[in-house]
Amino acid sequence: MKSIAVIGASLSGLSAARALRAQGFEGELNIVGAERNRPYDRPPLSKEYLAGDVDETSLTLEPEGEDLQANWMLGLSATNLDAGTRSVTLSDGSQLTADGFVLATGSRARAWPDTEHLAGVHVLRTIDDADRLRADLKPGARLVVIGAGFIGAEVASTARKLGLDVTVVEAAPSPLIGPLGPQLGTAVARLHGGNGTTLHCGVGVAGLTGGDRVTGVDLADGRHLPADVVVVGIGGIPNTEWLAGSGIELGNGVLCDRGGTTSIPGVVAVGDCAAWMDTAGVHRRVEHWTGASERPAIAVSSLLSGEYQGQQVKPPYFWSDQYGSRIQFAGIAGPDTEFTIEEGSLEAGSFLAVYRRDGQPVAVLGVDQVRLFTRWRRQLCALPAPL
Ligand SMILES: Cc1cc2nc3c(=O)[nH]c(=O)nc-3n(C[C@H](O)[C@H](O)[C@H](O)COP(=O)(O)OP(=O)(O)OC[C@H]3O[C@@H](n4cnc5c(N)ncnc54)[C@H](O)[C@@H]3O)c2cc1C
Repeated sequence: MKSIAVIGASLSGLSAARALRAQGFEGELNIVGAERNRPYDRPPLSKEYLAGDVDETSLTLEPEGEDLQANWMLGLSATNLDAGTRSVTLSDGSQLTADGFVLATGSRARAWPDTEHLAGVHVLRTIDDADRLRADLKPGARLVVIGAGFIGAEVASTARKLGLDVTVVEAAPSPLIGPLGPQLGTAVARLHGGNGTTLHCGVGVAGLTGGDRVTGVDLADGRHLPADVVVVGIGGIPNTEWLAGSGIELGNGVLCDRGGTTSIPGVVAVGDCAAWMDTAGVHRRVEHWTGASERPAIAVSSLLSGEYQGQQVKPPYFWSDQYGSRIQFAGIAGPDTEFTIEEGSLEAGSFLAVYRRDGQPVAVLGVDQVRLFTRWRRQLCALPAPL
């Protein structure tokens, strides 16, 4: 290949560009990014950066002096991919042609419908979102967080630290049921109560109230929660609409084989926009930092060689920092898995749980158990087909 275009200039796009150079690609490399910023780290946006503990410079993902010999095209979105002519149309109307493409357009936060013009209602995905939210997090203000997933929980934790009165509303019977299961989700969610955050589970949101500015949240059971600020943390939507009509198979994300190749040869997808097939034959979109950083090396190898080289893809892994506790999870748990507590206790709030399917460990959850967690995670990675 003589030229490659990376579409999306954040963690997974940057990781792909690095991998291309590391794997010997010496051709023309264009990196297109919708945001004007150079690649920056998102995890601190709900943690240290939102709290005001670190500034923007600490978010950079590029070490000083790194030069990938790439042409950065920032502030431009790809609007169409024509697989036949191997070209991408950009938002300024220009065309970018390349022999190979890496799709790394990530995901965006799902907004609450019809609230664009209601001040005080926020989502959190970009540095601009974090700046806007930070300006509203005034001590004593009443914050309602919709959704007790990881980002909602981290915002709640940071807001408590900043002295806000915080309530979290979760439609499911307990938080984090999806990744952790009900019992351990509840155990992790106990952190909220222990740190002065009110948590309402099993109740949906009927709507938001207010004129120019939000004044509260109406719950489906008729209750009303007054609010000065609302954060909507109800998940992400993959940025794949621009690929409609390209012939690339889309589902919940860009559908890829086990090495990141899409249904069109010479086009791979990585990071939050991509749904790679796992060893169980399921397309799974993984929205975590480590996957966005590690998997591009595999995808790039598929792209340069023309096929998946059989590398082992590590089980999904994420961490989350809430109320001073470090939560780590690796693998995939499901309704058919059972867990045992290997260390600590749910009551004590620090524990390590191992999920097993047919006696085989398939996932591990640690709360303030960093060393033990790392050991177990390594074991999961060493298993032949854990998922
Ligand atoms: C607030 C927050 C906290 C997080 N905390 C954690 C954590 O603690 N632990 C963890 O494991 N993970 C965490 N994550 C998840 C992690 O940051 C993501 O998995 C990671 O950013 C994914 O990288 P990505 O490059 O695939 O996508 P993104 O970071 O979403 O980047 C995609 C880029 O592509 C651009 N783009 C979109 N469409 C186009 C287009 N058509 N043309 C050109 N460019 C386009 C976007 O503007 C964006 O810049 C967090 C995420 C957020 C938002």
